[in-house]
Amino acid sequence: MRADILDNAVDLQATLNATALEHQLKQNRFHLVSLEKCIDCDIEIDPTRQALGGVERCTECEGFHQREIFQKRQKALR
Ligand SMILES: [Zn+2]
Repeated sequence: MRADILDNAVDLQATLNATALEHQLKQNRFHLVSLEKCIDCDIEIDPTRQALGGVERCTECEGFHQREIFQKRQKALR
């Protein structure tokens, strides 16, 4: 049962990563310069992620940032 939960978590994370990548690709930000270090936690941003263009946060901090934006939008709709 625990393996099922972990498998589901891994599948969900893969889906979220694929969705985030697709979103970035649609934004056509390749001409924008990415930061080498995250503006929130100061760790190095993965070069593969930097190649997307206009990247300011590491994957983890971007997830938190996107969740904050989502929650603010949800509150605004109430
Ligand atoms: Zn970060």
